[in-house]
Amino acid sequence: MLIALDSQNHYVQADLIKEKNIKGSLFCPGCRQPVYLKRGKIKIPHFSHYQASDCFLFSEGETLEHLAGKQMLSQWFTQQEIPCMLEAYLPKLKQRPDLLIWLDQKIPVAIEFQCSFISEANMIKRTQSYQKAGYKVIWILGKRFKLKRKLTAQQRLFLYYHKNLNYHIFFLDTNHQKLHIFYHLIQFERNELLKSRNYQVSLTNKKITLKTIINHFETLTYQPYVESEIAQTKELLKNHQFLMRALRNSQSKLIDFQRVLYQAHHHLLFLPIELHLPIEQSVIIQMQNCQWKYQVVRWLSKKGENQVFTSREYVQNMMTQLLFYPTPLITKKIQQKELIRYLYFLETQQIIHQIAHHQWVVLKKLVFFNSEEEKLMELTKNTD
Ligand SMILES: [Zn+2]
Repeated sequence: MLIALDSQNHYVQADLIKEKNIKGSLFCPGCRQPVYLKRGKIKIPHFSHYQASDCFLFSEGETLEHLAGKQMLSQWFTQQEIPCMLEAYLPKLKQRPDLLIWLDQKIPVAIEFQCSFISEANMIKRTQSYQKAGYKVIWILGKRFKLKRKLTAQQRLFLYYHKNLNYHIFFLDTNHQKLHIFYHLIQFERNELLKSRNYQVSLTNKKITLKTIINHFETLTYQPYVESEIAQTKELLKNHQFLMRALRNSQSKLIDFQRVLYQAHHHLLFLPIELHLPIEQSVIIQMQNCQWKYQVVRWLSKKGENQVFTSREYVQNMMTQLLFYPTPLITKKIQQKELIRYLYFLETQQIIHQIAHHQWVVLKKLVFFNSEEEKLMELTKNTD
């Protein structure tokens, strides 16, 4: 911990305290047991309990990464004159965020620098406890959460949504003193391959403040990763190969889906191309994309041509069939937005048409192919 209480009940910060000024004992703000100052050449100054303690707020063995990250962020905010408290204990919540800052006077923001594993249940509990008490919470991840080819279940818990950044996630690299915001997170259907863009902030560069970052994000617009038609066709073909391999793998999640399709006299490899589009897909839906989109198309074809439906009835129906990943920082509204987004896509394909705000009409059915050859012909017709 970086903050302790002195004998006069004042908070003292480990990196600012002078040993000769310590009069009497220092105490842990959580359990009120005595603590001592630890200083070393490579260690960051911090306080530690005397014996193996059963302190409910501070476990011993806090990593250098965690101590350094808290201190870096605290300095960064303080230098911008953003009110900031390190390790402030919130008795009502029985929680102690790593930092507490105020971007305006009304809404306090709890910042958690997460460096170690946290169970899903625990993360959700802590997030909701902040939110219920009127705090915003920003989770910033440490090096063990570094993004790789796919999003892991742990990383996914910390996804945020913003209209310009879309899905994004915060990282702090304490070795290089850099904050990374990975944004525009999407994945491809095949193998859930992850794509993202990276915005880096050097915490030592005094010119870059939180304000400049926020201003920058206001100007961001989404640029697709796969832009040209040729690139899109290539991606669709790779996707087709992925589905072919999936059928040969008895462990694949798609085998059950193929059984459902078979019952309806359909086949995984004969699905309409619109079920694999858009190529860039949502990271919050816990289902193969062609699978949930198939449910949409089934629902639409049951409605029938020229029939009108509302966004509301569509969303209500689909929410009962779709599975979302646990993403505690993303609201239900954003989940629903994903479903509506697909309606707008289907409109570009002239399958449906929006006739009024939240009202749509079914124009035509999607075409299922009769064979794999037929589908491959359609997929490759523009590539020659
Ligand atoms: Zn304690």
